[in-house]
Amino acid sequence: MKYDYDVIILGSGPAGFSCAMQSSKFGKKVLVVEANENHLGGAWINSGTVPSKALRETARIIQRFQNQFPEEAKEKPYSKYLMGDLLSYKDQILQSKNEKVQNDLQKNEVDTYRGYGTLIDKNTIEVKNWNGDVKQFTTKFVLLATGTSTIPPNGFNVDNNIVLDYNSILSLTHIPRRLVILGSGINAIEYATTFSSLGTRVTILSDSDEFLPFLDNDIAEELAVCLKKSAIEIVKSANNISVSVNDLRGSVEVMHQISNDKEKGRKYVLETEHVLYLGPKKPNSTKLGLEKIGVKLDKDGFIKTNATFQTSVENIFAAGDVAGFPRLASASFSQGRIASCKMFSSDPHSMPEQIPFAIYSIPEISNIGLTQKEATEKGYNVAVGRAYYKNITQGDVSNQQTGLLKIVFDQDSLKILGIHIIGERASDLIHLGQSVMNLGGDIRYFVDHVMNYPAYSEAYRIAAFNGINFVHKAGVKYKKILK
Ligand SMILES: Cc1cc2nc3c(=O)[nH]c(=O)nc-3n(C[C@H](O)[C@H](O)[C@H](O)COP(=O)(O)OP(=O)(O)OC[C@H]3O[C@@H](n4cnc5c(N)ncnc54)[C@H](O)[C@@H]3O)c2cc1C
Repeated sequence: MKYDYDVIILGSGPAGFSCAMQSSKFGKKVLVVEANENHLGGAWINSGTVPSKALRETARIIQRFQNQFPEEAKEKPYSKYLMGDLLSYKDQILQSKNEKVQNDLQKNEVDTYRGYGTLIDKNTIEVKNWNGDVKQFTTKFVLLATGTSTIPPNGFNVDNNIVLDYNSILSLTHIPRRLVILGSGINAIEYATTFSSLGTRVTILSDSDEFLPFLDNDIAEELAVCLKKSAIEIVKSANNISVSVNDLRGSVEVMHQISNDKEKGRKYVLETEHVLYLGPKKPNSTKLGLEKIGVKLDKDGFIKTNATFQTSVENIFAAGDVAGFPRLASASFSQGRIASCKMFSSDPHSMPEQIPFAIYSIPEISNIGLTQKEATEKGYNVAVGRAYYKNITQGDVSNQQTGLLKIVFDQDSLKILGIHIIGERASDLIHLGQSVMNLGGDIRYFVDHVMNYPAYSEAYRIAAFNGINFVHKAGVKYKKILK
């Protein structure tokens, strides 16, 4: 049967984009359908990854400048800098990224069509655009890369004026003096440290009783020290949250309770200028017409796939956030590509066992592999090596004394089991460890090879020596370790 396209992709975020690019390289006819009237690129470019990082970068530069020149720190950033100026940097980046995505698709002869796509049957997509026009296209394969949407809060509304969300925080007109963030995850800590670096007093109200529980203990401790220094407060187990404006005091009040509070039912009030709601997200899977075709969802509505992102219907694939964990742009790029390889190549690929994670807080955090606790629980003879940024020359040169790189390894084989970093450049640094780990190297790599100096990578060398000392103290002869 002849189809209009080899693959139709719903959604132009990282999963859809990478599938489109890879499929075009295979010489296939590709259509990307995007529901957003104004932008391609999804949350990746327009409301998530890139804009939040652009704002963070500006805050980081201001913080570094103030650390370097204490005279500059006498005035709080909110009375010195205009939010408009900070955001204009982000706007330039977004415009250029949007143009790049558009150009890349055009250069690779990928067709795009604007409108909301649904499946009529397993080979037919119907797209309704904003004028109400409806068009149908046929295709051999489908990739569902429709991402997620925020679940609206209970007990208050996001008015995009006082209570902001992922989108409206990026159009704020001034740097707030006080901000309450409602959220328990990575985005909460990223925005908290970004605004704190701009002088804002930040409180995070988290509904969970654990904050970032997946972090290695040492990293969590370092983070706690940083948060204390920045006076960022985290209130755990917060619930029954409501928001109201106190006209008399000219402030916003965030009422909440704390589960497991000794004083049962006690109400707490936080005064603030703005509230940032970073609530949980749900997959955009329910209005695509999947049930009638037999595409299976899990209990939370995420599309079920196999290792090559194929759904329960053979020619329909799903990748990116709509397919569930880990819900990152980094992983979505790989997933979209892997789906395309399965569709069009006899040599399909799958996701690597270990993928790195990054939290773009200030300072940033990144990790791959097992934490010390997980490695111990798995029965390894665990050893660790640590390097503190205050002992790295680049830390001195760059005035970055806060940070830690920790290598978790197997004492018997010296093979790396996990790497955990908090500090400047953590998200880049992790990849050196990732490569050594994935290529089967062990901690001796970092002592046997010459590395640039000064550079943050020196942390690997120091951590490796520290780890070797650990093994030596445990009774293994030095000569034997280095052999
Ligand atoms: C504040 C924030 C910061 C983040 N920071 C990072 C980070 O630093 N690193 C990282 O790796 N990840 C980060 N993420 C996560 C990252 O943005 C997402 O994992 C990624 O964008 C998911 O990509 P995707 O392709 O699945 O979908 P999305 O990027 O969500 O794109 C989905 C697209 O599908 C379109 N669509 C939906 N339904 C239809 C339909 N029926 N027809 C046609 N089009 C449709 C939508 O309009 C949208 O454009 C962040 C997210 C947020 C919110």
